[in-house]
Amino acid sequence: MGRYVYLFGGGKADGDGTQKELLGGKGAGLAEMTRLGIPVPPGFTISTEVAVDYAVRGAEYGLRDEIRSEVRAALVTVESLMKRKLGGAERPLLVSVRSGARASMPGMLDTVLNLGINDDVARTLAKETGNERFAFDAYRRFIMMYSDIVLHVPRAKFEEHLDTVRYDVATKRGLAASQWNKEELKRRLPDSEIPASELQKLIAVYKDVVTRETGKPFPTDPELQLWGAIRAVFESWNNARAKTYRKMHGIPETWGTACNVQAMVFGNLGDDSATGVAFSRDPSTGENRFFGEWLPNAQGEDVVAGIRTPLPLRREAEGAAGSEPDASLEGKMPEAFQQLVEIRNRLEKHFRDMQDIEFTIQQNQLFLLQCRNGKRTARAAVRMAVEMVGEGLIDRKEAILRVEPSSIDQLLHPALDPKAEKTLLARGLPASPGAVSGEVVFSAEDAERRSGQGIGVILVRVETSPEDVAGMKAALGVLTARGGMTSHAAVVARGMGKCCVAGCSAISVDYDEQVMLITIYADDGTKKDTRRVKAGDVITLDGSSGSVYLGRVPTAPAALSEEFAELMEWADDARKMRVRANADTPLDARTARNFGAEGIGLCRTEHMFFDGARIPAMWEMILATTRLSREKALEKLLPFQRADFIGIFREMKGLPVTIRLLDPPLHEFMPHESAQLEKLALDTKTPIDELKKRSVELHEFNPMLGHRGCRLAVTYPEIYEMQVRAILEAACEVAKEGLDVLPEIMIPLVISRPELDRMKDLVDRIAARVFAEKGCRVPYLFGTMIELPRAALLAGDLAEGAEFFSFGTNDLTQATMGLSRDDAGKFLPVYVEQGLLATDPFQSLDVAGVGALVRHACEKSRAVRSSMKLGVCGEHGGDPASIRFFHEQKLAYVSCSPFRVPIARLAAAQAALSTVASDATA
Ligand code: ADP
Ligand code: MG
Ligand code: MG
Repeated sequence: MGRYVYLFGGGKADGDGTQKELLGGKGAGLAEMTRLGIPVPPGFTISTEVAVDYAVRGAEYGLRDEIRSEVRAALVTVESLMKRKLGGAERPLLVSVRSGARASMPGMLDTVLNLGINDDVARTLAKETGNERFAFDAYRRFIMMYSDIVLHVPRAKFEEHLDTVRYDVATKRGLAASQWNKEELKRRLPDSEIPASELQKLIAVYKDVVTRETGKPFPTDPELQLWGAIRAVFESWNNARAKTYRKMHGIPETWGTACNVQAMVFGNLGDDSATGVAFSRDPSTGENRFFGEWLPNAQGEDVVAGIRTPLPLRREAEGAAGSEPDASLEGKMPEAFQQLVEIRNRLEKHFRDMQDIEFTIQQNQLFLLQCRNGKRTARAAVRMAVEMVGEGLIDRKEAILRVEPSSIDQLLHPALDPKAEKTLLARGLPASPGAVSGEVVFSAEDAERRSGQGIGVILVRVETSPEDVAGMKAALGVLTARGGMTSHAAVVARGMGKCCVAGCSAISVDYDEQVMLITIYADDGTKKDTRRVKAGDVITLDGSSGSVYLGRVPTAPAALSEEFAELMEWADDARKMRVRANADTPLDARTARNFGAEGIGLCRTEHMFFDGARIPAMWEMILATTRLSREKALEKLLPFQRADFIGIFREMKGLPVTIRLLDPPLHEFMPHESAQLEKLALDTKTPIDELKKRSVELHEFNPMLGHRGCRLAVTYPEIYEMQVRAILEAACEVAKEGLDVLPEIMIPLVISRPELDRMKDLVDRIAARVFAEKGCRVPYLFGTMIELPRAALLAGDLAEGAEFFSFGTNDLTQATMGLSRDDAGKFLPVYVEQGLLATDPFQSLDVAGVGALVRHACEKSRAVRSSMKLGVCGEHGGDPASIRFFHEQKLAYVSCSPFRVPIARLAAAQAALSTVASDATA
């Protein structure tokens, strides 16, 4: 065994399946299958170390003498195993040169097949196989593939000649070739119908193309061909599509691809030969049945090329859509099929996971060419994980770790019927999953009005703001032209579990005309057409993909499987942290409980003030100039708040509910449009100028750092007094019904101990009063959010006055990093793309910075109060990577939007089960 080159063949292999890092996934799989005694054509793998040298220190060093001689030695071994010789005058050996990275990157990297042919070899092959057509077909495929990948002569330069030949052959046969386009002609006259004599002529033409395009003749020396292909494979790591794919899937640039050189086997030697791909279980449903496709008389690439429609593997699947009857591999080649089934069973048992395999049958002899853990839908992942536990293949722990937490989002929301016909209008960001159809409305008021009439609507806005919340709630879905994954629309919609497509830049909204214009782009990115959609027109949103469709597209509701429930139970047994939900209404609370929430971690009270009937009292309160008139207005709000809390406490009986007192600046509640302002002037009998003046007074340059949170209660204590009264009166009432009520009163935006103490006095004073009035006592906790760096730094001091902390990681991120979530969209994506920040800190907690504050606050507060209850209520509470960090900090719970509760339960279980610590320096 060499240092850089690893052989496999003849039942033995230098490497094995565990060496994906060194050999790439493909190389490791080929080695492992060989060791298992599964028939694999012999070959060798040049390790990823060489690829990295090649990329970093150059081709010269990458393929230095030491490595070249290892490759030559390995080739000699393969030649002797095959009893063939590369470029041999008798029994020539052909090889494939295949890329294969650590992580699967299907179709992104290059592979060259049929390498080792020249004129002499082609003639020898023709004689040996008695099949001229086969030999010349392999030769012309090789020239085209090699030229494309190694010499960078575009395929199209060859294909045009093939098309001409095809046309001539068809015409000679009396087919109506002139009436068909190229694709149709290809279907009517497949490659296999082009006679050897024509292929031979084509080869000469191809060689001319190469000479013309590159200024050099096509390389005839097989060894030179081999080095050319090896270089091309290493270089394909840096082609544009591979780079894009790595970026999308977070695969490091530094890994490099291994290169596998493997003896060719031929599925195109006649009707006793074939090629195919298979999954050991159904990758879309997870059902435990062998699933795959094959083509007789074809080479590997043909199955995926889509020129010929592949046939089903199993007899059961015959006659399925588009396939001919009696065409299964099971029916046509029963022995090879049986052997394949046995191998499938062995591979599953061995790898203990669903396998994606490539096979070729050469004259009734089966060979495996690849195996890897197959990609699957979330639904399939859940089903397979649970069933494999039942089959004894894996244990519960492994089942939990097998399912990607964020993927189960797909399962919790309705989805578009995949078979439905649809007209795509535009694509935006998949901000909040689900699929809905409805009439377009352009304002929150219209959304409320139309949905009040029983009509399902989609709220379309340039972007949304807090005053749109009621309209968003009334709408079935939300579409915005601007804003990112953490824009107001995206965050609020996710919180509501409402479908949302955000940042759809192809649409421009005209509120006055009540239309949106959609620019339709052609595939090459040029502007093709403009479409008008007016208020009342129906559109469909797919929040899981970010697509917007014209008209109504049928959807299928989410149906949670038994396997899903079972997996979640196991996850609950495994996790250490509790999972709560952010919920502001009884309905949200119920959804949250149904998804397994163990309490409410954040009940925002401001949403309760925006609702139609309450907002006038709110305005009255804001406009009031004396404490007395403010109290009068607040008195009107009290019954509403109390009723909200009663509803929530009933839903959450027996579970804790953390209620945050009023947080946003009052300005956010004021009407912004002149019509509303006029109405308010009439209702409150206030001159409109005075209203405008008050509005100007309330205006702040930086409301995020302004008069908000507990600062409101320092200047207007009556606001919090009313809220505490509403909470505790509701608690007493529900307690009297015999239900357990566990309210936790939480103060926002605290930065100092005196501030906190002031709030505690206020809460305790009102509590004593309410309990005396009601003749009832309800236990409650007093605590604060930690959402400003000063609060985190002084956590030890604050802990003496608070019974719990909840990390408000959204604001804590904004304040720590000096980033405004609403303005960061212009540059944050660039930071992430250029690697200046590892991830968007609003999606995944900045462990190094914000995380350090969290860690500090945990330590300091626990030192003061060992019973300190610590939790998180930011968006990060639903993010698996952040959850792992919170688990490590031993927080009591995370709180996230109701629809993310199952994701958090699973992620918390995975955090508890996996031993690797998260990277604190990221
Ligand atoms: P990808 O990673 O894009 O699937 P592969 O290296 O697996 O690329 O090869 C592409 C196709 O060629 C596959 O269908 C594979 O099975 C087939 N193939 C690769 N090597 C050989 C070989 N030695 N003999 C026969 N077919 C092969
Ligand atoms: Mg492959
Ligand atoms: Mg906050």
